[in-house]
Amino acid sequence: EGEKEGEIDYVFKVVVVGDSAVGKTQLLGRFAKDEFFLDSKSTIGVEFQTRTLTLHRKRVKAQIWDTAGQERYRAVTSAYYRGALGAMVVYDVTRRATFDHVPRWVEELRAHADGSTVVSLVGNKADLTPAHRPREVPTEKAARLAEEQGLFFSEASALTGDNVERAFLALLEEVFAVVS
Ligand code: GDP
Repeated sequence: EGEKEGEIDYVFKVVVVGDSAVGKTQLLGRFAKDEFFLDSKSTIGVEFQTRTLTLHRKRVKAQIWDTAGQERYRAVTSAYYRGALGAMVVYDVTRRATFDHVPRWVEELRAHADGSTVVSLVGNKADLTPAHRPREVPTEKAARLAEEQGLFFSEASALTGDNVERAFLALLEEVFAVVS
């Protein structure tokens, strides 16, 4: 039986969380450029972008949700997390506070999302060198936290695109392994 173009085998909802201005929206934009959805009238103010790709010969539509600034008011609603198969917790490698809040985001995820939600940790803005702004979160420190919490970890840069594809693909691969 031939595979029809446009047929989707799986839809994976993935949520991106983390403090304000860590680069969540930019990371999403990097990974998912093929579609854009913005419901500006929505009272919950969420938006998502999608990218369809092939994993193990299956067509997978990754539906990646952005908080659309809700995190500024610490009011990310449970609707945001509902049905999420994957989650990416993002911090900024040049802002220590954004890393210190990672456990809170992970707790929030565990409280609202399914127990089987695959969670990964991404240290963004890895392109910034001490000449721009000093790094406040050493790679080893983040790697240790990720290991303790059982999360996939990578550093990335939405600006240069470095590791962005890899980070999302690793997460989607893991979700695939869980659902298939
Ligand atoms: P959000 O609030 O977490 O969605 O963050 P945004 O995606 O809006 O990004 C916040 C700010 O950080 C913006 O000024 C971005 O241009 C900047 N930014 C995002 N990602 C990177 C990155 O990888 N490197 C650098 N240098 N700046 C970034």
